[in-house]
Amino acid sequence: MPNMDPKKTPMPVQDPNVRRSNFEEVAMGYSEEDAIYEAQRCLHCKHQPCVSGCPVNIHIPDFIEKVKDGDFEGAYQVISLTSSLPAVCGRVCPQENQCEKHCVRGIKHEAVGIGRLERFVADYHREHTQEKPVKPQSNGHKVAIVGAGPSGLTCAGDLAKKGYEVTIFEALHEAGGVLMYGIPEFRLPKDIVRKEIENLKALGVNIVTNFVVGRSDTIDALMEEDGFEAVFVGSGAGLPRFMNLEGENLKGVFSANEFLTRINLMKAYKEDSNTPIYHPKKCVVVGGGNVAMDAARCARRLGAEVHIVYRRSMEELPARKEEVEHAQEEGIIFDLLNNPVKVIGDDQGWVSHVECIKMELGEPDASGRRRPIPVEGSEFQIEADCMIMAIGTSPNPLIRSTTPGLEVNRRGCLVVDENEMTTKDGVYAGGDAVTGAATVISAMGAGKKAASSIDEYLTK
Ligand SMILES: Cc1cc2nc3c(=O)[nH]c(=O)nc-3n(C[C@H](O)[C@H](O)[C@H](O)COP(=O)(O)OP(=O)(O)OC[C@H]3O[C@@H](n4cnc5c(N)ncnc54)[C@H](O)[C@@H]3O)c2cc1C
Repeated sequence: MPNMDPKKTPMPVQDPNVRRSNFEEVAMGYSEEDAIYEAQRCLHCKHQPCVSGCPVNIHIPDFIEKVKDGDFEGAYQVISLTSSLPAVCGRVCPQENQCEKHCVRGIKHEAVGIGRLERFVADYHREHTQEKPVKPQSNGHKVAIVGAGPSGLTCAGDLAKKGYEVTIFEALHEAGGVLMYGIPEFRLPKDIVRKEIENLKALGVNIVTNFVVGRSDTIDALMEEDGFEAVFVGSGAGLPRFMNLEGENLKGVFSANEFLTRINLMKAYKEDSNTPIYHPKKCVVVGGGNVAMDAARCARRLGAEVHIVYRRSMEELPARKEEVEHAQEEGIIFDLLNNPVKVIGDDQGWVSHVECIKMELGEPDASGRRRPIPVEGSEFQIEADCMIMAIGTSPNPLIRSTTPGLEVNRRGCLVVDENEMTTKDGVYAGGDAVTGAATVISAMGAGKKAASSIDEYLTK
C-alpha cells in the first residue's frame, strides 16, 4: 500500500533569522528515513506522466522504487542513465512546472517530492562512493564545446561516454557557467558542482579555461586548424539588459550578473577576497525571476534592507515559489505592481532614490500574462543606495560576429534545426544561447540531444 500522506515530507531548512546573514545552504536535505517515507508516496502509475515532464526523461518511478527499497546506490544508477548533474537538478530544477506538475498525487494533494528525492540520491552517492567513472576507449573523433555551463557539460559527458575526445573551451577561470557564477552558494554549494565536473574529467573530458572563443581563437580555426570535426556552442545568455532609465549609470547601479558573479564566483562577501563588493544599506532589485530573488537574497546577506520592485502581481511572478517563500522569510520586501521610471543621484554621483510608478494589470499580452499599465500620476520614490537590474539577459554577440554562416533570430539567439545543428555545417548549439534565458534542465536536454546528433553526424 502506498503512503497516502497528502503532504510532501518537509525538508529541514536553516532558520531564516540565522541564514539571512550567512551563505551556507538553506535547505538541508532528507535523512534516509525521510527519503524512504517520501518514496512510499509514489503510486508507480503505469503511464508514468512524471517522466514526460522531465526534459531529460529520468526514469522517475524506477529510481523512486529503489529508494523505497533502501537501495540508494541503485537509485543513483537509474538516474545517471539519463542525467549527468543530478545533485544540481535536485536542487535548482523548477520541478513544480516539470515532473511534479504531472504527478498524479498532485491532482488532489501535494505531488511526490521528486526533486527532493533526486537530491537525496545524488548526495548519498557523493558521500558514500569513491568510485570514479572509467574513461572509455577513444573512437578517434575530436569535438570542441564552447562554454562549460550545463548544456556544454552535458553534451561533453554524453560524447565522452561514447569515446569522443572532447575539449571544452570556457571563457571564465572556472567551469560550471551559471551554476558557478550565478546561482548562490546558499542554493547550490559550489563543491557539489565541482564534484560533478570532476566526474566528467574522469571520463576524459578536457577543460580549457580562460579561453574566449571568438577572441582566443575562432570556431573556424578550431575546425580547420585544430582538427575538431564538430563544435557544440553552449555559450549561454550572459549579456545583461537594462531599462535605459535616466540615472541608470549612477554609481551603485549594477546588473544582477555582475553583482552575482562578484559574490558567487569571486566570493567577494568573504573578507579575504581580492574582489570588492559594495555593501548596500538599502537596495532596490528590479525584476521578478530567479535572478532577481538570488540578487535580493545576496544583498540581504550583505546586510541590506531589500525591496523587490516588480511590475506585475505575485500571481505572475516567474521565480520559483520556494525561492519566493525563502526570500519572504528572510525579510525581503516585495513592492509588487510597481515599475522604476528614474534613478535619482546625490551630489557624489551615487544612487539616492529610485522613482517608481504604480501599475495595474490590463488584458493578457502575447506572453499570456496580464499587461502591466502605468497609473498616471502615481509616481513615488524609494530611498536606496543601490539598484540591481535583473530584467533579463541575451546571448553575447561575440560568437555570431566571429563565425561566418551562423544565423541568429531577432533576439540574438542562434538558429538551430530539430537536431540542434546551426546554419553552419558541423556546428551545433543548445541551451540559453538558442532559447534565451531558460532553465538548467532544458539546457541539459539540449546538450544531450546535440550529443546524439553529433554522434550520428560523425559516424554516418
Ligand atoms: C542567477 C541565476 C539563477 C538561476 N536560477 C535557476 C534555477 O533556480 N533553476 C533553473 O533551472 N535555472 C536557473 N537559472 C537559469 C539557468 O542557470 C540557465 O538556463 C542555464 O545555466 C543555461 O545553461 P547554458 O549551458 O546554456 O549556459 P550558461 O550556464 O550560461 O553557461 C555558458 C558558459 O559559456 C561560457 N562562455 C560564454 N561565451 C563564451 C565564449 N565566447 N568562449 C568560451 N566560453 C564562453 C560562459 O562563461 C559560461 O560558463 C538561473 C540563471 C541565473 C543567471
